[in-house]
Amino acid sequence: MFEADTHDVLQRSFTGDLPSKERVAQAVAEAHARYAGHTDGAVADYIPILAEADPNWFGISLIDVFGGHYPAGDTELKFSIQSISKAFVFALVCESSGHAQLHQQIGVNNTGLPFNSVMAMELNNGSPMNSMVNAGALATTAMMPGESAAEQWENIRSGLSAFAGRQLELDGQVYRSEMATNTRNKAIARLLESYGRITRDPLEIVDIYTRQCSLSVTAHDLAVMGATLADGGVNPVTGEQVIGAETARDTLALMASCGLYERSGEWLFEISLPAKSGVAGGMVAISPGKGAVGLYSPPLDSAGNSVRSQRVCAYLSKALGLNLFASSAQVKGNNV
Ligand code: GLU
Repeated sequence: MFEADTHDVLQRSFTGDLPSKERVAQAVAEAHARYAGHTDGAVADYIPILAEADPNWFGISLIDVFGGHYPAGDTELKFSIQSISKAFVFALVCESSGHAQLHQQIGVNNTGLPFNSVMAMELNNGSPMNSMVNAGALATTAMMPGESAAEQWENIRSGLSAFAGRQLELDGQVYRSEMATNTRNKAIARLLESYGRITRDPLEIVDIYTRQCSLSVTAHDLAVMGATLADGGVNPVTGEQVIGAETARDTLALMASCGLYERSGEWLFEISLPAKSGVAGGMVAISPGKGAVGLYSPPLDSAGNSVRSQRVCAYLSKALGLNLFASSAQVKGNNV
């Protein structure tokens, strides 16, 4: 296992700034206009209620680390957070259990396989692999502090609400629709139990996990949640320190390597931002130290990522200089 021996080194951070407010507002509006007419992708239907979404719904919201707000389109439409919850539950559990515990108990490597793969676990001695796929997310949810399932659920709900800066509510219709059809997640939980990876009642864990996926959010909420990760764990709208800066950094690292299902490598290569998508069509992409974009557009690619949202992120990453790996040579004077 790779462990960095740098705990005694003072960390410096350089993340740069966003362009002017006018330029950011203009780029968000341009991105919406540019991709609103794109019709690629298909709305998810494996959870029956999700199939009722209108493929034309499309919202983009950018929040900067000072709380500045740049919306375009349907930014107040509600939808279920789905897999995007995995990133924020990881953050809460990482804050309570610590970086090393999560690394050891769950793992932080990409599977290269679909989000609900059982194969990934079978090929890796029962390891849940990482908290962004269903096996790892179920095992992470099981680590959430709380004496009972009800308390764990309440801690997840209030923790995710602190990220959003408002009280998030469960969408009962989505929860019931998923609970009636999620036999595969129940099988994954049983498999985790068989490998001794969870010690609690597996079906209770599936229930809490399904509730967390059924929390109702907007593109605006996702942007605030992401901006909290961009701002060292401080919600830039409410000013609350939701998690520590180190946990925010760990969460972003995991999102960068595992946030876009089996397309995570391509995503990092093309767009180079930590992000997480969900099957209802939501997405959040974060530019550390600058801000975050929350998106909603239901049509998905074959891996489960919102198609328009990916295009918008590619556009904004370029137009606003968000790419994590981009640099340009400093102009050096003759006598330096
Ligand atoms: N609740 C969904 C599931 O477990 C989340 C999937 C997703 O958004 O990727 O199938």
